[in-house]
Amino acid sequence: MSSFSHEPRGPRLVTRFAAPAIITIFLAALALSGWLMTGRSAAFNGRDLAVLNIAAPAFLAGWRAHRCKTPVGPAILQALAGGLFIQKAMETASKCRDDDPWRAWRAKFLMNIGTSLAESAPEGRFRYRMDLGPFWFEAGPGGCRFRPALHATLAPLLNLADGARLDLNRTLRLGTLSFERNRNSDGTIGRNGALAYSNANNLVTNRDGDHVGHELVHTFQYRREAFLSPSLGQIFPAIRCRTGRWIDDTGWSVAWAAECLMADIRGQKRDFDIPMEREAYELTSSFRCH
Ligand SMILES: [Zn+2]
Repeated sequence: MSSFSHEPRGPRLVTRFAAPAIITIFLAALALSGWLMTGRSAAFNGRDLAVLNIAAPAFLAGWRAHRCKTPVGPAILQALAGGLFIQKAMETASKCRDDDPWRAWRAKFLMNIGTSLAESAPEGRFRYRMDLGPFWFEAGPGGCRFRPALHATLAPLLNLADGARLDLNRTLRLGTLSFERNRNSDGTIGRNGALAYSNANNLVTNRDGDHVGHELVHTFQYRREAFLSPSLGQIFPAIRCRTGRWIDDTGWSVAWAAECLMADIRGQKRDFDIPMEREAYELTSSFRCH
């Protein structure tokens, strides 16, 4: 995961950490996913939000600090603080409307401060990382730089290839790469019957759609899962060797695929029943002003 790919302690620690850590994290993610998918009728509630956004980052940071032999207590406290930022960012994002740039940008900064606090906690320092379209901005003790991210670069290309058009105004308003598509006769866009959808850290909607809050929550899940979920580079180390200069932001991809797989096995609907969707619906129904 990202915080370890830049560890100054060298690749040997990463290698030693990798195998058991990845297996444990992946099993924990599957278990958490299974626990959160306790049935279509079970509502996603405040307890689930607190587990995902606050408890899970704190647990993971503490466990990684233990593995890295850095102080565990401070790491947990820093990640807990980050988790509170993440939770607040999710609530703020769910309230966003299309003409509300201040709230959208505020949520974006809150989210990236929160995840940065959590993911750098095991290192005993703070490094700010923020996803901006295909690039991530990093600022820390080693200076500032931009790096391209794997999924965040691929997703816009897929959107364009699928007929979506870049919406520059909305992108600047929301701080999130946004695309638009014409509405079908039934009000949906694209071919999958969705009113709007997201892919990693960008969203697709129609020009008049008001689904920004829900989709922003999804793009924030991308940022959170870059820390919480094992990435493809961790599961398949050969990938990591070939993409060293890139941010491996595929944690969201792995988490989404695992949730969809669980939904398929259970005969549930991917668009409504996976934890990511239920979290987004819970947030928009609980915090959005009507
Ligand atoms: Zn959704």
